Amino acid sequence: MKKAQAGFDFWRAEFKDRTVEHKFRVAALPVDQGQAARNLILIAIAYATFIVFEWPHLPSGPHREIVLAGRLGVFLAGIAVAVAIRMTRTPALMDWAALVFAALFCISADAIFYAQAVIENRPPRLLMLMVSFVLASVTVYLIAPIRFRLQLMASALIALAFSGLVAWGGVQSDVGMGIVVLFFIIANVIGVAMAHRLHELRRLHWWTLMEERSLRTQLESEIEKRRVLESDLRHQASTDSLTGIMNRRRFSEVAAEEMLRAARYKHPLSLLVFDLDHFKKINDTYGHAVGDSVLKRVVSLSIPVLRGADIIARYGGEEFTVLLPETGMDGAVKMAERLRKAIEEARFDVGAGSARVTISVGVAQMGGDDFDVDTILEKADKALYTAKSDGRNLVRQG
Ligand code: GH3
Ligand code: MG
Ligand code: MG
Repeated sequence: MKKAQAGFDFWRAEFKDRTVEHKFRVAALPVDQGQAARNLILIAIAYATFIVFEWPHLPSGPHREIVLAGRLGVFLAGIAVAVAIRMTRTPALMDWAALVFAALFCISADAIFYAQAVIENRPPRLLMLMVSFVLASVTVYLIAPIRFRLQLMASALIALAFSGLVAWGGVQSDVGMGIVVLFFIIANVIGVAMAHRLHELRRLHWWTLMEERSLRTQLESEIEKRRVLESDLRHQASTDSLTGIMNRRRFSEVAAEEMLRAARYKHPLSLLVFDLDHFKKINDTYGHAVGDSVLKRVVSLSIPVLRGADIIARYGGEEFTVLLPETGMDGAVKMAERLRKAIEEARFDVGAGSARVTISVGVAQMGGDDFDVDTILEKADKALYTAKSDGRNLVRQG
């Protein structure tokens, strides 16, 4: 299922989509680089070991020099290509560096066998030659972390180098040609199958990882959206949409908490209820929209008068409440007066001209057994009625 979505190209042993393939190879590059460099260093060390062990046994002369040059060539090429791969930043360069190394290996092997046959007059045995080249080919398939097509190219190069030596003729035929061809074919088929399997598995693994990562990102953004939505909803549920201050529901909760705290620590707590005077007239004269703007203005005029801990809320219609923690009756009445005056002195924009608005305020203090929000609200409400009936634009205490 996932493989089908990723679009794996069987023949190329890569993703069908070039962009996906490139992304995969860039992601795999650090691991591939490490492996390639490590393997090359291992081969270089093996060749250095050859030099050490061969040297004392080889008779001096041009043969020994060619063998030494061949071994040294592969050793140095291994180190150089390993360093080049380590410094590379693009996947393509690594592939070609590995191919260059394979070519150098072939040239060196041919030179060594040639030197043995011609200069030393000791033709190499076909079986030995075959084993060496088949081993090189299998090595390319199994441990060269390069693209499939480049593995095929490197392997073809190795087969070519082998065929060149055999065709040239200076080889001791200690094994039948049919067997040699069959052995090469089998080694290549096994190598190709192994390499193909590795390429497919690595890509499938990476694709699954990418899919999981994108799912997780989706999920995270979904959770974030929900979180924002939830906090929006919570805000809406507790805020008055016209004025932006607390609504009645939230005010009741907060007031209950404040009352409990005040009661526990025996701190004073007061409450104001204020209502716009003859507000109906404003609506009737200037329209509902102007009425709305007056309500908003009343709030923006009230807030600067209040202290940080005071809590204002729209209790409904054109009626507001203010909770005054740590405040007794005297302080609350002073605050109510300041509020009344601030509104009275303001000019309200009502379209063509300006109008005056006044408020009546009822004040109540928590005390005695009144630990209940409704009881203190009722008291303040009664005081508000008194303020209305006494002529409005007044503060009364309950
Ligand atoms: P009083 O001095 O006795 O309080 O008189 P009043 O006219 O202010 O009182 P009344 O209760 O008769 O009228 C309140 C008006 O407030 C009626 C209603 O249309 C208006 N009102 C309530 N909520 C809103 C609102 O959100 N926007 C506007 N524009 N008007 C509102
Ligand atoms: Mg009113
Ligand atoms: Mg009213």
